[in-house]
Amino acid sequence: MQRVSSGPYRILIVDDSPSIHEDFRRVFESLPALSSLEAAEQDLFGDPSSDKPEIVFEVTSAYQGAEALTKVKEAQERHRPFGAAFVDMRMPPGWNGVQTIRELWNVDPDLQIVLCTAYSDYRWDELLDRLGVTDRLLLLKKPFDRVEALLMGLALSEKREWIAAARAHMARLEERVRERTAALQYQAETDRLTGLTNREVFLQLLQKRIEVMRQRPGHSIDAVLFIDLDDFKIVNDTLGHAAGDELLRQVARRLRSNTRHDLRVGRPVCGRLGGDEFAVLLEELSGVEPAQHVAQRLLQVLQQPYDIFGRSVRIRASAGLAVVDARCPDAAELVRRADVAMYEAKQEGKGRVLLFDEAMSQRLWRRVEVEQRLRVAVQEQRFRLAYQPVVDLNNLHLTHYEALLRWPSGEDESPLPDEFLSVARQCGLIESIGNWVIVEACRQLARFRQHRPPGMAPRLSINIAGHQLVNPDFASHLAETMRHHGVTGPELILEVTEAELATGVTTIADNLEICRSLGIEIQMDDFGTGASSLNQLRALPFTGIKLDRTCLATCREANDYSLIEGILALARSLELTVVAEGIETEAQWQILRDLGCPLGQGYWIGRPAFHADPCSRRFPAEESTSSEVPPGTASSSDWADVSSPQPHQ
Ligand code: C2E
Ligand code: MG
Ligand code: MG
Repeated sequence: MQRVSSGPYRILIVDDSPSIHEDFRRVFESLPALSSLEAAEQDLFGDPSSDKPEIVFEVTSAYQGAEALTKVKEAQERHRPFGAAFVDMRMPPGWNGVQTIRELWNVDPDLQIVLCTAYSDYRWDELLDRLGVTDRLLLLKKPFDRVEALLMGLALSEKREWIAAARAHMARLEERVRERTAALQYQAETDRLTGLTNREVFLQLLQKRIEVMRQRPGHSIDAVLFIDLDDFKIVNDTLGHAAGDELLRQVARRLRSNTRHDLRVGRPVCGRLGGDEFAVLLEELSGVEPAQHVAQRLLQVLQQPYDIFGRSVRIRASAGLAVVDARCPDAAELVRRADVAMYEAKQEGKGRVLLFDEAMSQRLWRRVEVEQRLRVAVQEQRFRLAYQPVVDLNNLHLTHYEALLRWPSGEDESPLPDEFLSVARQCGLIESIGNWVIVEACRQLARFRQHRPPGMAPRLSINIAGHQLVNPDFASHLAETMRHHGVTGPELILEVTEAELATGVTTIADNLEICRSLGIEIQMDDFGTGASSLNQLRALPFTGIKLDRTCLATCREANDYSLIEGILALARSLELTVVAEGIETEAQWQILRDLGCPLGQGYWIGRPAFHADPCSRRFPAEESTSSEVPPGTASSSDWADVSSPQPHQ
């Protein structure tokens, strides 16, 4: 027989008559000899006692129901419960058998009971009425048969052990199911990479907060902070995806340890919405300003250097803040608002946090509209280049033209280059547009050359976006286009805006070096607006700088020019040429010339203009709708000869 537990079977005898106890002890404590079959088995296969467990009973006596109850309680407390109890029906002066059984089951519901009776005190159906229909109860008529009693004791004790074993097994299974369910729930709610709450759960938490705020408005504010890492793609592109993943994990860790742990949901209220986008729920703040303060602090924390596989990496983040208000329809809308504000923060120069307002949505709609139109324009190549002269400031002789992109979209509000190029940069169209500019500029240079005496064709300067330079094939494509149109390196100048150059990206440096080796000049555009970093000037093969027009525009009086003087001195020491942009008056020209600024461009010298017919040797006005031609100002069509532009008086 296979047993589920070792140890003796425990039998409780409850009877007021001592002789009955003697009888039961004889039954259980002196087991009958082995059956003849077992004896034969023993002869054939040897002594089975080594692998068959010995059947041992331990008999306990109680003479009254109450005493039995005490013993059952003790057994329970010691975790050595009785397997079966043989209970007499009549036990004066105490409880009768039925009462005793009820009391015992109250304490030990699994106790298997044999009710022993000599008289038919109750009919069987009456007994069932009193004790309920149950498989825990058997009836043994006195005087009882010993073997019958033994087998009952054995079977019931064994049954009780199996019940206990099955229950323990169930409990273990339930525990495993609970653990597994918890693990699955954690997986379903958690972002795999970072361990933060995922988008769905974050939205659910947010929805709950919105409902709470609706019920008790006015006490405090909650806000959602939408965080997006700046230029995360560059980390992926330059250091690899494993490094990118590690960075995201570390960002998540910082967010988690710097945001409040929400006891109600048992986790920090920050989540990863996807990619390099994170969101934090800022709860119960006293106003918008504290919310902005917390947001700023979080961005500062994120900006500290990261150790990525032994390499120090710095990254900034932009964030948008949207306050939960009673009119906010739902969590998704709130996150959208924070996202819109984050987007605007990126537009305004990254690394900052902005609070959502409705005007931002309007601007975003405009952006979406411009993007859609721009896609069509790229497909249909609906762009043109306008050319603005750059002159030697000493004698106003033309040195070259800057090619400036125009999108004559035919709509009332044609987007200006700053606007549509920024959209193009964000939606990934900038490379195609930039390629078109290169081809068009080279084609135009070839045409200029056809209609000029040898050596008299002007050079062209073209603006190149940072995205173009990250492409390892940029320089070879440019060289190919130049070859195709017979353009030589010295005929070209590339203008690159400092803000568009990611630091330390070798592809950019490689591309620019190849361009330099072709004889192309490279100028840092918009100098004086960004970091104006000397490191960048040294690290990349620049040949000149273009002083942003805001530098000139902010000079009201003669002594305001000290910044420009400083930049000129710096450029001289680095042997860089300087083009001053935005010369709008004769006075500005004179001052710049006297300060020794070699080159310049601006409306006073000549506006950007379309070169409609190279054979005419005249520049017609740019777009007739152009806002660049203020009323009363002479247009570039006044130029008699492109090689000697006439400044507007
Ligand atoms: P940028 O390269 O600094 O170009 C000079 C901008 O100043 C041009 O604006 C030009 O029209 C304007 N400008 C010139 N003289 C004056 C002046 O005296 N007063 C004032 N107020 N403005 C003057 P535009 O054409 O709107 O271009 C804006 C920017 O768009 C450019 O700034 C350049 O960064 C970018 N861009 C233009 N064309 C291209 C292109 O083909 N590719 C790329 N990647 N960027 C381009
Ligand atoms: Mg430029
Ligand atoms: Mg510029």
